[in-house]
Amino acid sequence: MRKVLIIMTGGTISMVRSKISGALHPAKLETFKAFIPELFAYDDIHVDILEFHPMLDSSDINPDNWQKMAHAVYDNYNRYDGFVILHGTDTMSYSGSALSFMLDGLQKPVVFTGSQLPIGVLRSDAKENLLTAIEIAAAKDEEGNAIVPEVTVFFEDRLFRANRTTKKNAEHFSAFNSYNYPPLAKAGVHITYQPHLVNYSPMDMPLKLHDKTDCNVVVLKLFPGISEVVVRTILHIKGLRGVVLETYGAGNAPSAKWLYRQLKRAVDRGIIIVNKTQCSTGSVDMGLYEVSQNLLKAGVLSGYDITTEALLTKMMYLFGEYPDNHAEVQSLLQKSLCGEMTIE
Ligand code: ASP
Repeated sequence: MRKVLIIMTGGTISMVRSKISGALHPAKLETFKAFIPELFAYDDIHVDILEFHPMLDSSDINPDNWQKMAHAVYDNYNRYDGFVILHGTDTMSYSGSALSFMLDGLQKPVVFTGSQLPIGVLRSDAKENLLTAIEIAAAKDEEGNAIVPEVTVFFEDRLFRANRTTKKNAEHFSAFNSYNYPPLAKAGVHITYQPHLVNYSPMDMPLKLHDKTDCNVVVLKLFPGISEVVVRTILHIKGLRGVVLETYGAGNAPSAKWLYRQLKRAVDRGIIIVNKTQCSTGSVDMGLYEVSQNLLKAGVLSGYDITTEALLTKMMYLFGEYPDNHAEVQSLLQKSLCGEMTIE
């Protein structure tokens, strides 16, 4: 019998509609279970549920909740073969990315899933998503090793590496995409895994929990007409340590001297700035165009093909883990730690 722990954090998947007000609210655990009796009908998988209090809409999830989720996995690690985290879709990519950095050396699957329609609605996608996520969390190869021992997101019919995902659709059942990395599995009649795409941690590595984060980071999105005062004000936020600079195309920015000056001064003050393209697909290629040369000269780092969600959470994790080691944070930002970016 394989064992899977469901960690319920909230989100639409765990909600029912009130008969009185018509509003969605978190279901009681017993009500939730009653909607999915299949959870306890597996011959070969035993399912337990750990419920968070309070259950949250994922817009209210913050780094404290990431810690709680990471601890729930860490504390129960030896008792289960895999974990499913039920989470609202709105910030699932942030939580999934954060946990991929916090749970270092993972040998077991941690599968995030949720739904677009609440569990209590007849056409809900909740049941399919959850039941398939459980199978993935329990899946093992012939040698008894987990097939996808990574933090992942399963939604509709595809399994993605969590730190490669972005919520792309507020309407369709297919709510997520991984623009720069192929799915790790597809679920049809059978679940077809792509083991050659999976990031396996070394077998002898014990699970290590990194539970500190530092929120002194910001996303600065360039737009035509952005003014010096806006950029200067953001770069002078008290305590600021890291900036996700969202640029155009292959990592380009206006060639205005003031922009170079503001970025260079921020880098000289010890702020780490990483270039992330506003395009969903493709990679930053600094220096390719003249308009990105200034960024290079100012000391801005390349974010390659990373997502904003992964870059932001990676910075939060690194600043938390190495509070006094600027060089180490810089160096690790230029490396892929758990498959979050491809460095050509
Ligand atoms: N607002 C909800 C949440 O993210 C949406 C969802 O679950 O799909 O918690």
